[in-house]
Amino acid sequence: MKKGGWRKLIVLLLVFDLLLLLRLRPGLSPRVNLSHSQMDLLPNIRFGLNLNPQSSDNLFGLLGFYVQSSKEQADEEGLRIQVWDEQKGMMEMNFEEYIVHVVAGEMPAGYETEALKAQAIAARTYALKHLRGEDRCKSGYTICTDPYCCQACLQTEEMKSCWGDRYDEYYKKIDDAVKATEGEVLTSDGKLISALYHSSSGGRTEDSEAVFAVALPYLVSVESDGEEDSPEYSDEKVFSVQDLCSIVNAEFPQAHLKAPAEQIDVWGRTDSGRVKLVQLGEIVINGQQLRNLLNLHSTNFSFEFEGDSVRITCIGFGHGVGMSQCGANAMAKRGVDYRAILEHYYTGVEIITMDEQL
Ligand SMILES: [Zn+2]
Repeated sequence: MKKGGWRKLIVLLLVFDLLLLLRLRPGLSPRVNLSHSQMDLLPNIRFGLNLNPQSSDNLFGLLGFYVQSSKEQADEEGLRIQVWDEQKGMMEMNFEEYIVHVVAGEMPAGYETEALKAQAIAARTYALKHLRGEDRCKSGYTICTDPYCCQACLQTEEMKSCWGDRYDEYYKKIDDAVKATEGEVLTSDGKLISALYHSSSGGRTEDSEAVFAVALPYLVSVESDGEEDSPEYSDEKVFSVQDLCSIVNAEFPQAHLKAPAEQIDVWGRTDSGRVKLVQLGEIVINGQQLRNLLNLHSTNFSFEFEGDSVRITCIGFGHGVGMSQCGANAMAKRGVDYRAILEHYYTGVEIITMDEQL
């Protein structure tokens, strides 16, 4: 081939390669919520459809610079996730960076490092399951920042206002915990688990079936020792008889609640002590309904009637299913590592790295 012919061919191939890169660069392509099957393509897309040349002694080697640049950029960007926030709208974040923000929002930064690592893995598993489309967010997007729907996600300015002078120290502590467990997720029977967690179990976690009506083999009730010292362990709320009757009757007019001391009665508890059913005047509702109505910390509640007031004491904080964060912290204080913490709260699970999954 003539000199000019080679030049034309090289220019042509460079243009072709550039066009290919523009198509493949994640930052330049439109973002969509990926389905499970689409996610399976992600590693190939991220690494340039295996076009990355192994040697530079052929024509593709000359073009390798561009393919290599794409790979380096993909490596830098890593896996990304779209996070919906009611105030801020859609935020697109690096996946591991997102986990740092979730751990900051979901667990006190003062907790033990091994507990923070366990939290990072639970949060990552939860998020990956959403990213793969195996779990849904009520917003319709991949995942949101509402802790009642998905997972809390503290923004940098919120971390600074929460932690004040300790911002640098706490950020590094959480970032280190996330990096130390990078890519690690929980599976059962080769599938990502629903890695539920809660603040405090009050001494014993709950079967998933009792709360969500779905029995999962890895979400079964286990002991959770050492939570008593935590401020989340118990909580009290006091209502006047009049206020309590007004709240209940407004939500359930057929209750006709007038005299709580005579008309409120717990009808049954689960093995872990949480209320199954409670009689309120002329109706019976489940423990979760009353928890929601009165904004109680848990369904492990009991009543004390004192003259014109009703004292409701709750043990534990949260739904009680999966990992207890207080319990995880107590285990970490006893010298237990994050793997053993997770294996305790999620029965029979395996800890694997995400690359094996995707
Ligand atoms: Zn959500």
